[in-house]
Amino acid sequence: MGNFYTDVICKDARFDSLMRVSDPSLLEPATRQLVESLVSAAQQMGTQVMIYETYRSQNRQQELFNNGATKLRTVGVHHYGLACDIVRVASGEPCWKGDFSFLGQLAHSSRLIWGGDWGAPEIKHSFVDSVHVQRCTVSRQGDLFAGAWYPDDVYNPYDDGQHLFAAAMRAGGKQPAEAEVATRRSRPGKKQA
Ligand SMILES: [Zn+2]
Repeated sequence: MGNFYTDVICKDARFDSLMRVSDPSLLEPATRQLVESLVSAAQQMGTQVMIYETYRSQNRQQELFNNGATKLRTVGVHHYGLACDIVRVASGEPCWKGDFSFLGQLAHSSRLIWGGDWGAPEIKHSFVDSVHVQRCTVSRQGDLFAGAWYPDDVYNPYDDGQHLFAAAMRAGGKQPAEAEVATRRSRPGKKQA
């Protein structure tokens, strides 16, 4: 049975792109809708934000790894159209500075998992990626990457009780195994198109 990854992403010309992709059309439709409403909610609050990266290819992940911008060689949830990086805009430029807890609040009310707490705010995470949101729990990632699971339109990670709990347990004291390592340490513009 097909899904957005197999039917759209795998057939897209940018599948192997080394360039950063910020096109929302490579976000799975339900994820796209949540991300876009989150962005407009932020604007309405007076916080200027932009969609910085949606889809990411394995090639790009490898290049980021080679350049030391990420600790992960294998691409994560971004590759499946289920994750998005949202940054502030300052003087027209993407900006990673400042407090991103507003993004956590908006993500939660948009039913997206925020990389600032990985869906488990009660736990102190050793790894945070505060510009990252995704429409799947950390616990689902293994099945997602194996092609054994893909969310349906109404999937809500906060209703994914068993998996959310498992994520929280696993995240306790150590970083989520498959969590993306932030690429924000790479200078904006360095690798962008
Ligand atoms: Zn990300």
